[in-house]
Amino acid sequence: MITSERFDLTGKVAIVTGGNGGIGLGMARGLAEAGADIAVVGRNETKCLAAANELKTRGVKAISIVADVTDKPAVTEMTRQTLRELGRIDILVNNAGINIRKPPHALDIDEWDSVIRTNLTSAFLCSQSVYPTMKAMGGGKIINIGSMMSIFGASFTPAYAASKGGIVQFTRSCACAWAADNIQANAVLPGWIDTDLTKRAREQIDGLHERVLARTPAARWGASSDFAGIAVFLASRASDFVTGTAIPVDGGFSIMG
Ligand code: NDP
Repeated sequence: MITSERFDLTGKVAIVTGGNGGIGLGMARGLAEAGADIAVVGRNETKCLAAANELKTRGVKAISIVADVTDKPAVTEMTRQTLRELGRIDILVNNAGINIRKPPHALDIDEWDSVIRTNLTSAFLCSQSVYPTMKAMGGGKIINIGSMMSIFGASFTPAYAASKGGIVQFTRSCACAWAADNIQANAVLPGWIDTDLTKRAREQIDGLHERVLARTPAARWGASSDFAGIAVFLASRASDFVTGTAIPVDGGFSIMG
């Protein structure tokens, strides 16, 4: 029988990159409700502080860390600050992400680099940075955020799709490399979720809103709250034998024929 004890995160510490809004904050809320202390990481200090203050109302410790996760020294300091202020690191959610919507022939190299560094290289930097701590503590959980673009292509997402395909393969590599350290690494593939990121997409792509509704069996856009449950599952001992997977959270978008 599954009991709530399997999902209890009391005493655990989670770093959530991009945890100051959208899907990241939805995951952070779930982790906090299950008892985890949270380090909210982002570039915008005001948003990070607001998110941390809100998470504290759930009865856990929450801190704001202002860091650009594409910058290795900033990531090193993110890990140090979390250890200094929260004492341990059990869970890392690599969620920070951006998109630049252009066809391949119109994307310049700086735009390509920016998307790849934010969505993919950051996950490498953060995972590598927390690994020694997780190993020393006897285990950990890494949750990487992919996309429907981990599976499908689209004419306007060359760098984004490359980064999101890459993150699934990166997840599998970490899962294999660190299984002996009792670290499980999994990816979550969101469908179309109503956040700041997709508000811009709806403005830029004619008919997107209706096309998403028509193709999604659940017949709605996802909400950031749809990510609380999967975050708790993948961060808790309930998922100790689950590693290297890529789990769609998409209202059925990816299985629609
Ligand atoms: P938002 O734009 O709402 O959130 C993105 C977050 O990433 C913000 O908190 C932002 O914080 C942070 N961020 C961006 N760049 C950096 C950086 N260099 N350093 C630190 N933090 C950074 O988008 P979503 O919530 O929609 O997206 C979250 C993740 O989910 C992304 O990886 C996205 O690709 C993925 N996703 C989203 C989907 C959707 O439909 N919404 C679908 C599939 C995947 P700040 O601005 O403070 O830096």
